[in-house]
Amino acid sequence: MKTVLVTGGAGFIGGNFVLDTLGQGGWRVVNLDKLTYAGNLDTLAPLRANADHVFVQGDIGDAALLEKILDEHKPDAIVNFAAESHVDRSIDAPGDFVQTNVVGTLNLLQRATGYWRGLPLDRQDGFRFLHVSTDEVYGSLGPVGYFTEETAYAPNSPYSASKASSDHLVRAFHHTYGLPTLTTNCSNNYGPYQFPEKLIPLMIQKAIEGKPLPVYGDGRNVRDWLYVRDHCRAIARVLEAGRPGEVYNVGGDSERENIHVVKTICALLDQRRPLADGRRHEALITYVKDRPGHDRRYAIDASKLKRELGWAPQETFETGIARTVDWYLANQEWCGRVLDGSYRMERLGGV
Ligand code: NAD
Repeated sequence: MKTVLVTGGAGFIGGNFVLDTLGQGGWRVVNLDKLTYAGNLDTLAPLRANADHVFVQGDIGDAALLEKILDEHKPDAIVNFAAESHVDRSIDAPGDFVQTNVVGTLNLLQRATGYWRGLPLDRQDGFRFLHVSTDEVYGSLGPVGYFTEETAYAPNSPYSASKASSDHLVRAFHHTYGLPTLTTNCSNNYGPYQFPEKLIPLMIQKAIEGKPLPVYGDGRNVRDWLYVRDHCRAIARVLEAGRPGEVYNVGGDSERENIHVVKTICALLDQRRPLADGRRHEALITYVKDRPGHDRRYAIDASKLKRELGWAPQETFETGIARTVDWYLANQEWCGRVLDGSYRMERLGGV
């Protein structure tokens, strides 16, 4: 059995990745997460009795802690999800984003390189450092065209600028020190366990509660949506067969305007949970002042990942969004504990 050190594995995508990886077997997971507001141990509750999951609360910027973890658990791979990830928060507090996404990733790369160099040669060959990143590093597209792995970086928000910096550091560690890195740049994710500050879970939760649905600007910003478990499958595939030093774009071939996403959620909820006063959920949509620097369109060309590694998304936007609405309806307790803050009281014992 191999061991993977996952950072940020109590967050949305990392949590799904840890659950999927342990569900499939073959890996032991050491999960290092600082438990910021975005880290939620409720997500990992199904793993309480799983001896192949070791949870450590801590910061990727903590050099001594990382050295201890690497020395004790001797991982075969590191997958770095840990990040500050919400664009709106990066506008209010960019320093936190530089601290974790840039300085923290640099620390992780330095400790990983020292550890990797000390491995026996056969284990050095198989070791991988996979850095999970975003398509937002490429900036904004006009009405046509796609981001490829060759697209020049042009980040527009403090969040994307910090992720771009971390991507450059990962690249530099491969070229300078030979660390076997892999980078994935993925489009917008949605699905179970996403913190209800991001567009899709926010809209689902507000719509379930019959509250106004705040849509930025004219609602016509376009994102390429990918169901989170398809992203997790892509990461697993890149980890397994990606070529060291390479970058792989991951996308869902599902470009949708934000307003279309919100109206789709409304229509699904009209069927599944009609409003008590008989109105349609669409009546809750309220346009609000646009986010500063709001990128107009992102769209990913994932053909390299499909061609070289045989990955393809299993969900369409329509099947994935229906699954997601159903998950939030069935997991109102998880959402309630996020919204009233009690998820932060979850203790580490047993997890
Ligand atoms: P998230 O905010 O839900 O989770 C981030 C996790 O990292 C949290 O559990 C948090 O506690 C942890 N964390 C934060 N700072 C830390 C630190 N200093 N040390 C250790 N742990 C720390 O984010 P997410 O949406 O799951 O995104 C995960 C990764 O995927 C991020 O790197 C993000 O940039 C990238 N990504 C996200 C999307 C998306 O649509 N959500 C798309 C593409 C790429």
